[in-house]
Amino acid sequence: MSPKVHGIHHVTAMAGDPQQNVDFYAGILGLRMVKKTVNFDDPFTYHFYYGDDAGNPGTIMTFFPWSSAGMRGRIGNGQLSVTSFAVPEGSLTFWEARLKAHRVKIRGISERFSETVLSFDDPDGLLLELVSSPAERRPGWENGSIPADHAIRGFYSVTLSLAAYERTAGLMTSTLGYQAVEDADSRFRYESGTGGPGTYVDLFCQPSAPRGTMGVGAVHHVAWRINDDESQLQLRRELLASGYQVSPVMDRNYFHSIYFREPGGVLFEVATDPPGFAVDEPAESLGQSLKLPPWLEKERALIEQNLTPVTVRKP
Ligand code: ZN
Repeated sequence: MSPKVHGIHHVTAMAGDPQQNVDFYAGILGLRMVKKTVNFDDPFTYHFYYGDDAGNPGTIMTFFPWSSAGMRGRIGNGQLSVTSFAVPEGSLTFWEARLKAHRVKIRGISERFSETVLSFDDPDGLLLELVSSPAERRPGWENGSIPADHAIRGFYSVTLSLAAYERTAGLMTSTLGYQAVEDADSRFRYESGTGGPGTYVDLFCQPSAPRGTMGVGAVHHVAWRINDDESQLQLRRELLASGYQVSPVMDRNYFHSIYFREPGGVLFEVATDPPGFAVDEPAESLGQSLKLPPWLEKERALIEQNLTPVTVRKP
């Protein structure tokens, strides 16, 4: 049987001011900053990773923060348009009050399939959701700033905005091993692996919507989980055989990655679960100091000079 992906590994977006990004994701949303490093392809830009206690795959939201003057993106077709996090059933009242208290732009609460959805914007205009679902069973971070009963569990789903969904759906169900779950109002839901929260991808079909553009406030790519290097190489061969232009395997230090663009224009990555974020610092102190991959260590002084320090602080 060919190797299949099993859920969302991480989502990576472009942000504006780095401290504002830390204040929102680690402060207001209460995610753990599990890695503070740089963009390996542009080492004078930070790369922040937020997740659960251990930074498990399926919980990791990552950002390349530029500055508040960075070029703005526009959310639209050919992009991951909405990133949805899972919270326990009954937690949306807590979250609505918390977001309001911090003057977060709330777009509203709605019902979708069998879930309740709180929609809001991050400080750069990235579209986010908190989804409350009875199917959510993952534990919350015990030592975070949000009570574990309400803490974000990881991703619930991602929404890809597409002018047409059929070819993307074909890729998801054939090569990537997804199964259709349900659909309504131009939203077609698929799940992978064992299914459930953290594995859903919604293909949202909007034939007349404008295409998105990359920049601050837009998602750069979504990564799907794969078990190991061998499965990744096999999937890479299958994608190449199907005509996709797939990158070589890239060493991202915390996982190994391949990249390709799906038929609707969204940049996909497939990332291995191992080795994870404790590979270069103790699990207890993840994210506290600037980590660089071995090949950038010799430039540490220059890199640090060019980065504005940031701190995790309570809102
Ligand atoms: Zn990535």
